[in-house]
Amino acid sequence: SQKAHINVATWLEAVKAGDGIWFPAHAFTPHKGIYGNCCSGLLDALPEFPLAIEMGLSADRQMARSISELDGLVLFSNSDAHSLPNIAREYNLLEVSENSFLGLKNLLLQKEGRVVANYGLPPPIGKYHRTYCLVCEKVVEAPPPFLHCPSCGSSKVIRGVFDRLLSIADRKHNTEPDPLYIYQIPLRNLPGVGPKLIQRLLGEFGTELNILHHVSAEDLNRVAGQKVSSLILSSRQGKCAIKPGGGGVYGKVVDILS
Ligand SMILES: [Zn+2]
Repeated sequence: SQKAHINVATWLEAVKAGDGIWFPAHAFTPHKGIYGNCCSGLLDALPEFPLAIEMGLSADRQMARSISELDGLVLFSNSDAHSLPNIAREYNLLEVSENSFLGLKNLLLQKEGRVVANYGLPPPIGKYHRTYCLVCEKVVEAPPPFLHCPSCGSSKVIRGVFDRLLSIADRKHNTEPDPLYIYQIPLRNLPGVGPKLIQRLLGEFGTELNILHHVSAEDLNRVAGQKVSSLILSSRQGKCAIKPGGGGVYGKVVDILS
C-alpha cells in the first residue's frame, strides 16, 4: 500500500532517524498533492519546509515560481512511473558530487551539485492541468483560475492544477520560457504516430529521447515523413498546439496539419 496511517510529524521523525530524504511529490495535483488538496502554504500541513518539491506532470518551473515560498527549494520533475512506457516521461539532469545517495543528499542540501535541467511534458498535456466539471463532463476552457464550472456554476469539479495554483499564487504567472525546463512530448502522444512508426524510429535511431531531442530534421523526415517530423521539431521548441487535459484525461496535441 502507498498509505501510512500516521501523522506527518511522526513520519518525518522516522525519515530522519533513518537518515532519509523526503519531499512532496506531484505537489499541485488535486487528489494527493500537498498544495492540491491539503494547504495553500506548506507550513499549514508540514512541521518544517521540505528541501525540494516534485512538480508533477501538469506543472513546470514557471508555474511553481508563482508561489514565492518555493524560492530556494530544489524543483524536480520526476516520472511518477506506474508503468514501464512512462519511465523518463519526465526526468532531471543533475550535477552531483558523486553518483550515490550521498550525492543526491548533498544536492538537496544545496551543499554540492545542482539541477542542470528538468525535462518534462508541457503542462497542458498533464491529466489534471485544468479544472474539469463533473456535471458538464468537460474540461473548463475559459482562462484560469476556475474552481467551479463557468458554464453550469457547479462546484462539483475536479480542480485543475493550473487553476488551483493560480488561486493560491502570490506572484503573477510568468509565461516566459525557463531555460531550465525543457519540454518533451512522448512519441505516442503525437497525432499520427502509432506503434509501427515508433518501432521504425527506434530501429533507426535507438532511443526515444534521442528521437525527441537530437535526431536531425532531415533524418526524421526520411523515416517518419514531413508531418510527424514537424510535430517533433515543434515539440522541441515547446510550440505544439495543445488542447489542455483535465479530470484525469490527458491533454492532446492538436493535429494542426491534418
Ligand atoms: Zn459544468
